[in-house]
Amino acid sequence: MNDKYIPATGGCFCGAVRYEAEVNLHAAYYCHCKICQKTSGAPAEIGVSVKPGTLRFTKEEPQFFQTSPIGRRGFCRHCGSRLIWMSPDRADWTNVSVGSLDHPEQAVPSLHICVESQLPWYKLADDLPRKRSGDDPDLIAAWSNAGLTHEGKPL
Ligand SMILES: [Zn+2]
Ligand SMILES: [Zn+2]
Repeated sequence: MNDKYIPATGGCFCGAVRYEAEVNLHAAYYCHCKICQKTSGAPAEIGVSVKPGTLRFTKEEPQFFQTSPIGRRGFCRHCGSRLIWMSPDRADWTNVSVGSLDHPEQAVPSLHICVESQLPWYKLADDLPRKRSGDDPDLIAAWSNAGLTHEGKPL
């Protein structure tokens, strides 16, 4: 993985929410967590990392929902497209949903996370690194700061 961020644009299905940001197209990752499954309606979400401080909305702002103590997800209030994931304490974790980019074909997934929730029939023919939530010390620390275990249960 490299740290090269480039300017990109994207937005929702109906066009009400548009954004620009510097993104790392080589730091796209599959998140197999249960919340991503529910909020995307797909077996996994693919997020693309955003350089902290570069995300700017150029039309309407998304509607944000606090989906866990460590994150909120932004959707278009008109068409429902999921666009953004942000964490209050970790600006460096901000990501945009790959399908919201104007050129999602340029993104290159580099990692699978939260694979403990991966659906058994969702097989991806790649040899990318696969991490369980419990393998990520930063994630465990973030949950812990929110008074929770890495599985979202109270400490
Ligand atoms: Zn929309
Ligand atoms: Zn997730």
